[in-house]
Amino acid sequence: TPLTTTPLTTELRTAAAAALDRLGVEVPAAPDGGGLAVVSPLSGEVVATLPEAGAADVDAAVTAAAEAFRTWRSVPGPVRGAVVKRLGELLTEHKADLAELVTLEAGKITSEALGEVQEMIDVCDLAVGLSRTLGGRTMPSERPGHRLMEQWHPLGVVGVVSAFNFPVAVWSWNTAVALVCGDTVVWKPSEKTPLSALASNALLQRALVEAGFPEAVSSVVIGGRDAGEALVADRRVALLSATGSERMGQQVAPAVAARGGRYLLELGGNNAAVVAPSADLDLAVRGIVFAAVGTAGQRCTSMRRLIVHSSVVDDVVARLERAYTGLPIGDPRAEGTLVGPLTDAASRDRMLAALQEARADGGTVVVGGGAVEVDGAPGAAYVAPAVVRMPAQTAVVQRETFAPILYVMSYETLDEAIAMHNDVPQGLSSAIFTLDGREAETFLSEAGSDCGIVNVNIGTSGAEIGGAFGGEKSTGGGRESGSDSWKQYMRRATNTVNYSTELPLAQGVTFG
Ligand code: NAD
Repeated sequence: TPLTTTPLTTELRTAAAAALDRLGVEVPAAPDGGGLAVVSPLSGEVVATLPEAGAADVDAAVTAAAEAFRTWRSVPGPVRGAVVKRLGELLTEHKADLAELVTLEAGKITSEALGEVQEMIDVCDLAVGLSRTLGGRTMPSERPGHRLMEQWHPLGVVGVVSAFNFPVAVWSWNTAVALVCGDTVVWKPSEKTPLSALASNALLQRALVEAGFPEAVSSVVIGGRDAGEALVADRRVALLSATGSERMGQQVAPAVAARGGRYLLELGGNNAAVVAPSADLDLAVRGIVFAAVGTAGQRCTSMRRLIVHSSVVDDVVARLERAYTGLPIGDPRAEGTLVGPLTDAASRDRMLAALQEARADGGTVVVGGGAVEVDGAPGAAYVAPAVVRMPAQTAVVQRETFAPILYVMSYETLDEAIAMHNDVPQGLSSAIFTLDGREAETFLSEAGSDCGIVNVNIGTSGAEIGGAFGGEKSTGGGRESGSDSWKQYMRRATNTVNYSTELPLAQGVTFG
């Protein structure tokens, strides 16, 4: 790990230490010459080094979580909700501090980092409400003097594996809901964002301890893929909730299934919008630019494909070109910046290689697409977001490149647009821009978009926590956050109670 650093990295180190101090987090010291290096995308250099958890640390965390579960599961739901309410208060108090760490580790512009922490606060509110309303149904029994009903019980230890691009929100979606459901949580955050993870978990542990509960209700293990694999393999982890690439999901799903565990997968997306002839193009272009360029194209819901009616495609592309030309790219902490850095140089190289492949497939880069030098940050991976016109939806368009590339294809009929829209392996988020009610309803119908999130006249990114979040096909099928996603964090018991003096059997069976 090189210790010589640019002035920017020295500044980032000081800022990180100060934010952690305000959050009351003690960062453990790494062993001499070892540990996990935290590289800030703002400078491309190391800002902190932490001890790295191995399989034994994961085992210890799961043991403690399983032990804590035995008491936590019997704490009344609303009392568990009060702990989550306190977490929401602490997050509100430390919103700016945590957002600063998110910017530093994930490279998000300040407004988006603050938005990520707000999402944590929002999901705490949702979970507090749930803590008083989680409930089962009562069904009519076919037998006299019998009651048929269901109860929802806490599930056990929930393992959370998360990605770098939503370093704290994804944990909160899982944890706020899992806690009110009576589960305990062990979190393996992305190896790229451990400081914001330590800070988030420290706030929750403070809330737990204040209320007299053990810290082990929620713990974090800082490590890489090995630590993730140990959590995945542990049969005491009743639900493994994993967010990341399709590749990761393809490894996790069979491993959890083989031990009879439950998994919830939130994997890559390849999200598209259809722009119909009737679309309000001013609104559409604003929606497209936020979805395609926001978080430098590093959201699972980032818009990556645009399917535009041939009558408006030239106009849409010209408007996008104008909007992209003026995009402020640079330090995500600076006022006015809209595009921060990519997470690392490998990510930039993948973007440049994808653009080469698109050109070889007959595509034309209309705007952007190059590496961008930012003063004082020679090691950072800044890029100019790209718009690429494609003659067809070739292989490069069909996979997720985690960078700001928007491929534009054209269509003639809505059927053709929907077929093209659905002809990718992923199924996370989608949108149609149209003022034609029939087109909108068709896109929302069973014969329309095949995604888990389907929007009208709004982009593909920026979901609210009240709805269930997730996608189909290679995106993994999981749903988190609102609606009835909580059911995945509980186990359902069906109960039949006989309060009669007879013993009638179901289906009219007689026995003896
Ligand atoms: P990644 O797959 O490289 O890593 C994600 C996490 O999985 C990390 O914590 C990593 O250590 C861990 N991991 C990797 N291999 C593992 C294995 N075999 N067993 C256990 N753990 C393993 O992803 P990333 O680069 O951090 O994040 C970007 C990806 O995440 C994109 O594909 C993006 O679309 C996706 N993502 C999806 C959602 C969603 O909700 N659908 C949200 C955010 C990000």
